[in-house]
Amino acid sequence: MGLIVQKYGGSSVATSERLRHVASRVAATRRGGSNVVVVVSAPGHMTDELIARAREISSRPPARELDMLMAVGEQISIALLSMAVQEMGEQAISLTGGQVRIVTDGVHTKARILDVDRRRIDAELAQGRIVIVAGFQGVTPEDEITTLGRGGSDVTAVALASALGADQCEIYTDVPGVFTADPRIEPNARQLARLSYDEMLEMASSGAVVLQARSVEYAKAYRVRMHVRSTWSDAPGTLVEEASDVEPIRTVTGVTHDVDVARVTIADVPDIPGIAHRIFSALADRHINVDMIVRAASRGGKADISFTVTRADAPVAEETTRGIALEVGGGEVVAVEGVAKVSVVGAGMATNPGVAAKVFGALAAAGVNIQMISTSEIKISCVVSAEEIQNAVRALHSAFDLEGVR
Ligand code: ADP
Ligand code: ASP
Ligand code: MG
Repeated sequence: MGLIVQKYGGSSVATSERLRHVASRVAATRRGGSNVVVVVSAPGHMTDELIARAREISSRPPARELDMLMAVGEQISIALLSMAVQEMGEQAISLTGGQVRIVTDGVHTKARILDVDRRRIDAELAQGRIVIVAGFQGVTPEDEITTLGRGGSDVTAVALASALGADQCEIYTDVPGVFTADPRIEPNARQLARLSYDEMLEMASSGAVVLQARSVEYAKAYRVRMHVRSTWSDAPGTLVEEASDVEPIRTVTGVTHDVDVARVTIADVPDIPGIAHRIFSALADRHINVDMIVRAASRGGKADISFTVTRADAPVAEETTRGIALEVGGGEVVAVEGVAKVSVVGAGMATNPGVAAKVFGALAAAGVNIQMISTSEIKISCVVSAEEIQNAVRALHSAFDLEGVR
C-alpha cells in the first residue's frame, strides 16, 4: 500500500467548515487505497495572535516559553481534524511532534530537525489509522518543545515524507501552486507547472512564503518531490523537483517580495580590519540571520555599514550592534522597519548579461527609489520603501514579460 503525506496550511483549517472539507479530502485519499499521514498548521492567524499575546506580556518573551505557547496552535488543529475525520467513518489519531519524536536541536523558535522516529507512525498506520501530525513543532533530546521557524509545517511534511519513504508529498494551500509572483500582489502572475529545487529555494528565501525555504532545502537534500496545490480544487499544482537536463533554463523564474525586513545601520565605524567580523560574528552567536550587507565607501577613516534582518530579529540585532559600536568607537545605530525587499530570481541569469540593468531601469521608470542592492548568480535584490513594494513587483514582473510564462 502506498503512502501519501499531505500538509494543510493555516487558512485551510481556519474554520469548522474548512476543517470538514480537509477531512473529506483526507478520507477520500484513504478510501483511494493509500496510507495517509497528514500535517496541519495552526488555524488561520493563530500563530500571529499567540505571538502578539506574548508581546503584551513581555517585550522580549523568552524563546523557550514562546515555543511552548506557539506549539499550542497546531495542537488545536490536529485534535479537531482527527475528530472531523472520525466523524466521516475513518479511523484517525492526532500526534504532537513530541509524540512522534521529531527530534530537533535546541535553538528555540528556529530549531532544525535532527531525526524523525518513524516507529509510532508505522504502528498507527498498521492499525489502519490516518495519522494527523502537528506541523511546526518538535522536541529536543531533552524533551523541550521547539518550533521550526515561521512556515515550519512545510518542513515537518517534507521530513515525514522523507523518513517514511512516502510516494507523494502534497502541500495544500490557499493558492493553486507557485506563481511567477505572489498572485495577491500581481494579478497577472502565472502558475508555474514545475520548478527546480534551486529555483524554488531562491524564491522562498527571498520572500515567496508559499513554501518555507528550509523545507525546500530539506526536500533537495533528501530528494523529496513536493507538489504544491490548492485545498479547494483537484487541479494539478506546481511540482518542485530535481532540475531535468532536457528543459531549457529560464532566465527569470519570478519576482518575489519580502516585507518582513528591517534595516540596521551602524554609522561611522573605524575603517580597520576585523570590524565586520566582530559585528557579524556577534549576530551569528545570537542566531540572527543577516541577509543583505552594504558597506559604504570610507570617508575620513570611517564608514557606515548597513544590513538587513527579519523584523522579529531587529530589536536583538540593534542591541547587539549597539554593544559592538560602543566597543569599537563607532557612531549611532538605527533600525528602520518601513522597508521591503524585491528580488528577481532565475537560474539562467548568470549567463544573461543585462538583467541587473533591466531591473534598475524598470524600477526607475516606476519611480521606485533603491536603498540597497545585492546580487548573486541567480538573483538580484533591491531594498525599497515598504510602501512601494507592490509598484516594484508589478514593474519588474512586466519588464521581464512574466505574464507569458507557463
Ligand atoms: P499556508 O498557510 O497554506 O502555509 P502561506 O500563507 O504560508 O499558506 O503561503 C501561501 C501564500 O503564499 C499565498 O496566499 C500567497 O499570497 C503567498 N505567495 C507569495 N509568493 C507566492 C508565489 N510566488 N506563488 C504563490 N503564492 C505566493
Ligand atoms: N503556524 C506556523 C506559522 O504560522 C507554521 C506554519 O504555518 O507552517 O508560522
Ligand atoms: Mg506556509
